[in-house]
Amino acid sequence: MKETQRTLTVCKSVALVAHDHKKSRLLEWASTHADILKKHRLYATGTTGTMLGRQVGLSVHCLLSGPMGGDQQLGAMIAEGKIDVLIFFWDPLNAVPHDPDVKALLRLASVWNIPVATNAATADMLINSVQMGAEFGISIPDYDGYLKERTGD
Ligand code: PGA
Repeated sequence: MKETQRTLTVCKSVALVAHDHKKSRLLEWASTHADILKKHRLYATGTTGTMLGRQVGLSVHCLLSGPMGGDQQLGAMIAEGKIDVLIFFWDPLNAVPHDPDVKALLRLASVWNIPVATNAATADMLINSVQMGAEFGISIPDYDGYLKERTGD
């Protein structure tokens, strides 16, 4: 598929999600990096976002809770170019009821080539990257070209 470019602005839209057994780890991580996170627009699934607001003091736009559709809302926002970075502390040791939604979220993050951290070590590297505080170009699918190919225009 042909690709085009998208520029992630200096102030980024960062999505934060943590499965239940990973929530305390994400809260600790967010607290450590609160000064950097405050420079960006924050989105989160319902429970994660509410906890980040109450316990870390971050201003977070909360979507629905993950199992109730929040992961799908984030996936749709990624497809629409409204999310720039995904920090997703998913739980590799416990099953969740919305596993298909988790896969769909990670799939769309790959399709649209946004930076994703799925564990604390990667999240540390990502948040401390100079690119977090600068414009950053990413290659994304050329959707107009894709549609033209499929419709024969
Ligand atoms: P929650 O959802 O923040 O509402 O717990 C997280 C998830 O997707 O499991």
